[in-house]
Amino acid sequence: MTLAERQMQFLFALRSKGVTDGRVLTAMEKTDRAMFVKGHFADRAYEDMPLPIACGQTISQPSVVGLMTQALQVNPRDKVLEVGTGSGYQAAILSHLARRVYTVDRHKPLIDDARATFQALDITNLTAFTADGSHGLPEQAPFDRILVTAAAEDPPGPLLAQLKVGGIMVLPVGQSDSVQSLIRVTRNDTGFEYEELRPVRFVPLLEGLGKD
Ligand code: SAH
Repeated sequence: MTLAERQMQFLFALRSKGVTDGRVLTAMEKTDRAMFVKGHFADRAYEDMPLPIACGQTISQPSVVGLMTQALQVNPRDKVLEVGTGSGYQAAILSHLARRVYTVDRHKPLIDDARATFQALDITNLTAFTADGSHGLPEQAPFDRILVTAAAEDPPGPLLAQLKVGGIMVLPVGQSDSVQSLIRVTRNDTGFEYEELRPVRFVPLLEGLGKD
């Protein structure tokens, strides 16, 4: 299969799973997933499945990345926070849609790798930090959009507090590894509105920094 054919098949798979937003599809077309998948899994980068990365974590399934990005309704002037950098793939896609993106992960080796990848791809509006994202990123708050790619029991209070009025946060919530739902939280003048979007499965949002 040629690269162009593989790319077409990848985009077709995304569309058939409900990723229909043209801006999101273009951002995903610009972001080569193989750059974020290291070693012997790299040749499976265009399949619609999660794959293992360093520190026992995973790069999410492309269709789930697409659906979450679509649900976030990012505008070109937005300042966005992602919690759970992992490989950096989701953050790179967001960088094509937003003015400024910050991403944090509790594992320093993942942040070191992701930074190198962002540099290789010449992405300059995206900054990655090693931090416990359950506290958000107070230095850069408030945010227009927040995307969390690890599951908490409930939306963390600091993240709700760091969302602008009119802002949107998309995150998986659930009490166990197996039963989680993706929810969208919209902040309005008087409080927060919650919508349940679909069942998902993510690694847990853990407290503190990784030990590696
Ligand atoms: N968005 C990633 C996939 C995320 S996997 C991608 O595109 O590849 C979930 C990530 O959340 C893991 O890397 C894990 O280390 C991170 N994570 C879990 N709890 C965290 C926390 N409290 N703060 C920051 N990152 C966290």
